Amino acid sequence: MEADLARAWVEGIAAAVRERADELTQLDAAIGDGDHGVNLRRGFDAVVAALAGADLATGGEVLVKTGTTLVSKVGGASGPLYGQAFRAIGKALQQDATLAEALRAGLDAVQKLGKAVPGDKTLVDALVPAVEAFEATGDAAAAARAAADGMRATVPLQARKGRASYLGERSVGHQDPGATSMSLVFAALADAAAATAATGPDPGR
Ligand code: ADP
Ligand code: MG
Repeated sequence: MEADLARAWVEGIAAAVRERADELTQLDAAIGDGDHGVNLRRGFDAVVAALAGADLATGGEVLVKTGTTLVSKVGGASGPLYGQAFRAIGKALQQDATLAEALRAGLDAVQKLGKAVPGDKTLVDALVPAVEAFEATGDAAAAARAAADGMRATVPLQARKGRASYLGERSVGHQDPGATSMSLVFAALADAAAATAATGPDPGR
């Protein structure tokens, strides 16, 4: 992945998180502690600031810096999870993985840290179908659609991981905030890849 595509992806996430911070926070207020939008906005604003001053040659370097910044700036469950995901994606790309392989490495990092599986009503419910769709098609737009479907499918689930799990059956009927932000992450990737495909080379790597 080119550094420009990685920067466009991360800047797109930051913009979406800023725009949707209140919605993410409201979702988290319903089944958590109401800080998810605030957490991610603080984190991605810090990432944009960190990237602005950095001379980074490859997408891998951009995404490792993104992950490291998120780990250091965002508390709660989502900071370490998103941080380790981006670090793993970036490291894989630095070792010449394809984007599909790198996204799989990001998923593995999330599951190693958080131990959530599909159906637990977490961001994994959006991430797993997105990675699978990207592996099958190489198409970021297909991955984004799969992430959005996974996000919507969290509504009827009972949470088994994270703060929402403390609510037991009362977590049913609410969309998971982390699955919602993960859907924004893949929508931003699709937008960045489409913009790069229109102007430049090889969005697939
Ligand atoms: P906190 O729950 O610490 O307040 P956030 O509100 O920022 O952190 O993030 C909440 C989101 O984190 C949840 O909606 C869920 O998607 C995700 N999450 C929580 N625990 C886990 C886990 N063990 N594995 C994967 N995702 C998790
Ligand atoms: Mg929270």
